[in-house]
Amino acid sequence: MIATQPLELRAPLSGVLLALDKVPDPVFASRMIGDGLCIDPTSQTLCAPLAGVISNIQDTGHAVSITDDNGVQVLMHIGLDTVSLAGKGFTRLVEEGQRVEAGQALIEFDADYVALNARSVLTLMLVVSGEPFTPLANGLVELGQPVLQVAPGNRIEEADEEEGDALFSKPLTLPNANGLHARPAAVLAQAAKAFSASIYLHKQTQSANAKSLVAIMALQTVQGDSLQVSAAGEDAEAAIAALVALLTQGCGEAVTTPTAVLPATLLRGVCASPGAAFGQVFQVAEPVLNITEQGAGQAVEQAALARGLAAATQALQALQDDAVGSAQAEIFRAHQELLEDPTLLEQAHGLLAEGKSAAFAWNRATAATVELFQGLGNALIAERAADLADVGQRVLKLILGIQDSAWDLPERAILIAEQLTPSQTASLDTRKVLGFVTVGGGATSHVAILARALGLPAICGVSPEVLALANARYVLLDADQGTLQLDPDLAQIEQLETARAQQLLRHQRDMAQAGVPAITRDGHHVEVTANVASLPEVEQSLGLGGEGVGLLRSEFLYLDRNRAPSPDEQAATYTAIARALGTERNLVVRTLDVGGDKPLAYVPMEAENNPFLGLRGIRLCLERPQLLREQFRAILASAGFARLHIMLPMVSLLSELHLARRILQEEAATLGLATLPKLGIMIEVPSAALMADVFAPHVDFFSIGTNDLTQYTLAMDRDHPRLASQADSFHPAVLRLIDTTVKAAHAHGKWVGVCGALASEALAVPVLIGLGVDELSVSVPLIPTIKATVRELDLADCQIIARQVLGLEEAAQVREALRMYQAATVETSPVVEL
Ligand code: PEP
Ligand code: MG
Repeated sequence: MIATQPLELRAPLSGVLLALDKVPDPVFASRMIGDGLCIDPTSQTLCAPLAGVISNIQDTGHAVSITDDNGVQVLMHIGLDTVSLAGKGFTRLVEEGQRVEAGQALIEFDADYVALNARSVLTLMLVVSGEPFTPLANGLVELGQPVLQVAPGNRIEEADEEEGDALFSKPLTLPNANGLHARPAAVLAQAAKAFSASIYLHKQTQSANAKSLVAIMALQTVQGDSLQVSAAGEDAEAAIAALVALLTQGCGEAVTTPTAVLPATLLRGVCASPGAAFGQVFQVAEPVLNITEQGAGQAVEQAALARGLAAATQALQALQDDAVGSAQAEIFRAHQELLEDPTLLEQAHGLLAEGKSAAFAWNRATAATVELFQGLGNALIAERAADLADVGQRVLKLILGIQDSAWDLPERAILIAEQLTPSQTASLDTRKVLGFVTVGGGATSHVAILARALGLPAICGVSPEVLALANARYVLLDADQGTLQLDPDLAQIEQLETARAQQLLRHQRDMAQAGVPAITRDGHHVEVTANVASLPEVEQSLGLGGEGVGLLRSEFLYLDRNRAPSPDEQAATYTAIARALGTERNLVVRTLDVGGDKPLAYVPMEAENNPFLGLRGIRLCLERPQLLREQFRAILASAGFARLHIMLPMVSLLSELHLARRILQEEAATLGLATLPKLGIMIEVPSAALMADVFAPHVDFFSIGTNDLTQYTLAMDRDHPRLASQADSFHPAVLRLIDTTVKAAHAHGKWVGVCGALASEALAVPVLIGLGVDELSVSVPLIPTIKATVRELDLADCQIIARQVLGLEEAAQVREALRMYQAATVETSPVVEL
């Protein structure tokens, strides 16, 4: 039935009216549930805004809907996340099916209790049947005062009955901790509306129209309920498949199955490489080596050590030649360098002179240095210790004549180890290995780098009890969640396998389209460039559709050198990289970003108490201007071969920029260069972001380093294993600083890139584009994915979602909002098999 008379809705509470956009909850703010208003209440009895029948009142008493005689349906939801209060603080005064008058008391609530125990007491009144309305009030309102005028007549009537023969899904178990309350119900109804079929959700003998939010809520589902979806009509099959998948995945809510919360069946770690895999445990155990102390004469032992070192050098060369990517090759090149380390060799030869065996001398020398590195309490040097231990073991085995027997890997192996060394992982049969789990290592460890290069999921920092798991036990590794599930159930496995198959298809499609520019559906071009540390990586990036280099981490070019590269060698490196790119592409060279946390062997530094707050980046270079002059000269030699940009890291004061520019001008003048290359700064310290308007007139561009910007904004060490999940670049504080930076840059006609890891996350792309970021400089293997992500978006939508997430309270909410947005976007651009 369709009404013609306008209807006035009265304020259900006294309080202050707010626009829905101001609600810090993406589902309400995006009007997914329905349009209406929000009240910050000053009274505590929710009253009916219109006369009608209670079409639903949640058992928990936090939400109620009324349907009037003309079908206008109004939902009131007291507070945010109040479903989790499980009824505490709420008293229901009416029953479902009861007729109520406008102004009649519906629910009493204890506002103090709600405010203290839930996210917010903000109360929503939404016209969920979809009629348009005009607001009649704003600001402060009194209970019962008219607030909205609804114009019935435009509502699309939905069929109540199923048409034709309905298809039914298999029963599924509802995973949501609080059942299908307003938010997941809205997501489900929204998805159902995309199909023309009539769709119903069944719980025992009750059924609900799956396109009606209120009907779904009226089912009063709880976790563990057995539900079925039925559909009738042309697209019934597709509708059932989509809705069953959505329901098992939690309808936009993070869900855990009952088994997943049992601590004995779930081990946690830190994500080192994303993805998930279901496979069987394979414990990696190293053989015990038998080392005799006494040698058989100095000359014999010296020859044995020399043979071992030579064989190891050769083996490492072969590994570099066969490496999967440049990252892996770099690691083995570094290992080769370690074999030539004079201090290490000196120590070993000293022991040989004392009559020790080659194996003993080498082992003792490497072990002492490993211990020294580990004791320095620095994550990056500790990684070097792991490298040294690895290469030490390689030489030792060669001296002792122990063959590295290939592991007898089962199919679908998930490797478990105290620590996996690059040598162990290099020669893996990747057709059989599905993932890594280690007790040691961190998100920045080499195992993490290798796992990412191989595209395998990996977690590290897992409790040592993982080493006791029996071989061949089936487990589910969910690196995205940082978990190893020991007794996964069938539904979880199926869900994972489907997701994996989808991911694979997407990846294949993205790779095939890597050369297509990153232009949004509404025609906005975003430059997608590469973060690189070597010439081979530049070449690889071009093959993957990279449009230039947005960040050359110059400190990595010579990271493993004991001596500084000569000026000519430096110039040759930059020139080779510039030539590879050509004059049509940007090359952004970042000047040396070394400091306490990124030691450079040939730039000795004093130990610092707070290395992250010490002489890092540009601060160190300005303390040692000779270093900066030399680097500027070498970089300037490559001008003309690419569109050269120079970028200063860790800038926090304007004076640093002025000083560096003067030095650059002097060096350019010495070289007789008429024009300076573009000069920009990294925005990775909050002071630079907050003062971006002051910096902007003095730079040609900004590039935002979200890794450091996050650690300095949240005051959380970026490598801290226990803070890893909180030091999240999706935090609204970081996003607000990006917003400030972009606005300031654009006001002065300057471009802004993001080169921190946030740019390499597909989930972040809509918000970065929406905030106006012009360039995304990303990790090389992810270039095709990020370009494809851009092509699926609309700039106009991104601007809306970006504004919304800036108003949220924490990173998890931002991720949730973006996940929902992503789900909706991906839905409209299906993956096509190539
Ligand atoms: C950053 O801080 O985001 C960045 C790109 O620099 P790095 O990771 O090299 O410190
Ligand atoms: Mg940085």
